[in-house]
Amino acid sequence: MTLPTSRPTPAPVHLPARLPARRLGGRPRTGRAGTLRRAAALVLAGALGAGAVAGVAAAEPSATPEPAPAATRVAPHGRVLAISLDGLNPTALTRLGRAGTPALHRLLRQGASTLNARAQVEQTVTLPNHSSMVTGRRIDAAHRGHGVTWNSDEPGTTIQESSGVPRISSVFKVVHRAGGGTALFSTKTKFSLFERSWPAAIDRSVIREEEDALLVRALRRDLVRHDRAFTFLHLGLADQTGHREGWMSAAYLDAVRTLDGLVAKVLRTIERRPALASTRIVLTADHGGRPGTGDHGDADVRANYRVPFLVWGPGVDRGDLYAMNTGTRTDPGRGRPGFDGRQPIRNGEVANVATDLLGLRPVPASRWNRQHGLDWTR
Ligand SMILES: [Zn+2]
Repeated sequence: MTLPTSRPTPAPVHLPARLPARRLGGRPRTGRAGTLRRAAALVLAGALGAGAVAGVAAAEPSATPEPAPAATRVAPHGRVLAISLDGLNPTALTRLGRAGTPALHRLLRQGASTLNARAQVEQTVTLPNHSSMVTGRRIDAAHRGHGVTWNSDEPGTTIQESSGVPRISSVFKVVHRAGGGTALFSTKTKFSLFERSWPAAIDRSVIREEEDALLVRALRRDLVRHDRAFTFLHLGLADQTGHREGWMSAAYLDAVRTLDGLVAKVLRTIERRPALASTRIVLTADHGGRPGTGDHGDADVRANYRVPFLVWGPGVDRGDLYAMNTGTRTDPGRGRPGFDGRQPIRNGEVANVATDLLGLRPVPASRWNRQHGLDWTR
């Protein structure tokens, strides 16, 4: 299902960002210094523009007037591409090694990463976990979760309805409100739930059922042609193969190799285009899968609840994400922490890692990373 793109490609417009107070004191983050410098330069540019409006321009009629900035709007800084590799058990990456999955290993090595993040507590299946990624909420609606407890394509359903929150927000909504473009690319039709839930906030939605390569081709074209602040890419090949042939089977490992090749293509597209240089990637999985079985439904099983999580791109240091976040996150070892006590890094942090990277406020009423506390610098 493809909705028409609702906006032409605009020239990137960067407005001064409101910088969260946390960043103004203490140790500046690597890359934030650039953000601060850029913000300062833009404030200056804005002041000059205002001066021109106030009279300088009258003396220089040939000067091109700056478009008036929307004073209160905070525009996203740069771009974020969120990638979810459905059913990626991190053991596959260890098993295949750098030779078998060079692109994913490169992201892990160059970015802030862990292979020991956690899926949602309540369920380790696709739609509930992706709903957490885009809303930053847990699953259980009785505890301010999104309430998506089903894992099939259910026409007519919305997250407004499942959560009981008529104005429930998402990363798409926050980015769109701030004037940024958004897009969703998925290989499963059940992701149409997001189109129905936020039709005005998702500028383009492309769903190609079980067509990972075609989908990535469409994504790469979109990245080049449109100035989107936030793009979500879901690839289902590993999950689909795991269900059919078993997790960690030769066919499953082949599927992970294929996905690595698709991620490599995305990286090439990003790195060859100066306009895409500001792209940060956030990569995780909805769940893993139990070796030798075609199943990942048991939320108590480590092979199901353990997922990778990484942030990569300009301003992101290389290193272990837990080591960078000793004050706020705790490596759960082999455990499965609930909602109380020290928290692991979770796949549901995608939404508010994205809002943080883009310089936007967190998704309202979200839970995971709602303080923008996750750090990706050493
Ligand atoms: Zn599955």
